Amino acid sequence: MGRLVMKFGGTSVANIDRIRNVARHVKREVDAGHDVAVVVSAMAGKTNELVEWCREASPLHDAREYDAVVASGEQITSGLLAIALQAIGIQARSWQGWQIPIRTSDAHASARILEIDGTELISRFKERKEVAVIAGFQGINPQTGRITTLGRGGSDTSAVAIAAAVHADRCDIYTDVDGVYTTDPRVVPKARRLDKIAFEDMLELASQGAKVLQVRSVELGMVHNMPIFVRSSFDKPEDIDPHANQPPGTLICSEEEIMETHVVTGIAFSKDEAQISVRQIQDKPGVAASIFGPLAEANINVDMIVQNVSEDGATTDLTFTVPASDYTRARDTITSAKGRIGYQRLDSATDVAKVSVIGSGMRSHAGVAAKAFAALATRNINIRAITTSEIKFSVLIDAAYTELAVRTLHTLYGLDQV
Ligand code: ASP
Ligand code: MG
Repeated sequence: MGRLVMKFGGTSVANIDRIRNVARHVKREVDAGHDVAVVVSAMAGKTNELVEWCREASPLHDAREYDAVVASGEQITSGLLAIALQAIGIQARSWQGWQIPIRTSDAHASARILEIDGTELISRFKERKEVAVIAGFQGINPQTGRITTLGRGGSDTSAVAIAAAVHADRCDIYTDVDGVYTTDPRVVPKARRLDKIAFEDMLELASQGAKVLQVRSVELGMVHNMPIFVRSSFDKPEDIDPHANQPPGTLICSEEEIMETHVVTGIAFSKDEAQISVRQIQDKPGVAASIFGPLAEANINVDMIVQNVSEDGATTDLTFTVPASDYTRARDTITSAKGRIGYQRLDSATDVAKVSVIGSGMRSHAGVAAKAFAALATRNINIRAITTSEIKFSVLIDAAYTELAVRTLHTLYGLDQV
């Protein structure tokens, strides 16, 4: 007997039929003797609709009221699932973020969880065998008493945080895919499902564009050493043996628990990138600060940075990338600081993509990136910028070559399914 958190995403609770299906997944685990807390997202598409309603009401709206509106999607599904559970004889009740409470910062629309008191949930497991059905994505700021939300995709983070708070043995994330793949199977049909992946590798994969889990949830899993199991909610609930060692899916866990390791774990890509090049700036101290200072003040996240060595010792070029959504603002910020920076020309491109190769095995292997550069060259793919870290390297390329680059690298590092 153990304690489980089961999280179901939007497609898994998209209608009443699917909610009944979720209830049967929960029943299976309850019948197996586990304490269960369930975390649910809003029905598929619901949050988008709510966000759109806020924009329609006023393009510039109060973030506190935005949170009051968008948190409602999860309120509905938590209540509905509790009803569906009761209907099949399972003791259950719904919980909104403020009722537990899930205390968060006051950064509305992107709040961080500060603290969750799991005592009440735990005592109800013990005394009544009651399933807690918790609205994901939302919390409350203790100072203001206002409802907050955790940022899009935030119910993954709710689930892992609750798992830590109730001392669960595992956090199961039920979703519309049956695990974490070496890359997006829609791009590379030969992509393989990973049985296990280390927190660190998963963190990089998620940060670099893999959309399976919210990045913050993986960070939390790593901090609390909470194993996260990504699995499909479309498997028939009754076909699964809750006592089997590992049903189909991917376990995200600490590195020590992974026996067999490859140098490269996976390949992520993102087309939501934009490149800006500031040409012929003075090659002297303080120039980088004059560019990145104003960008930081504008809250624009700069990712890759490349500065050329100046040929004449006088001027140089500086290239960097920003999220495509911040592109116009970034350009405007640089243009307004032109006087201080003192550049000749500003070039930019939005049809670029970042492809990242990830693997903690890179720490102990040399020449991993060099192989990729050679392989991309044989495909005539030009590299615009490169960044590297201990367990990852990324290349910026023309967006049109994304699929070709991902497939090439996937084969190169032996990730193709055999
Ligand atoms: N419903 C929220 C969203 O769509 C939270 C989540 O699904 O994780 O972003
Ligand atoms: Mg999600």
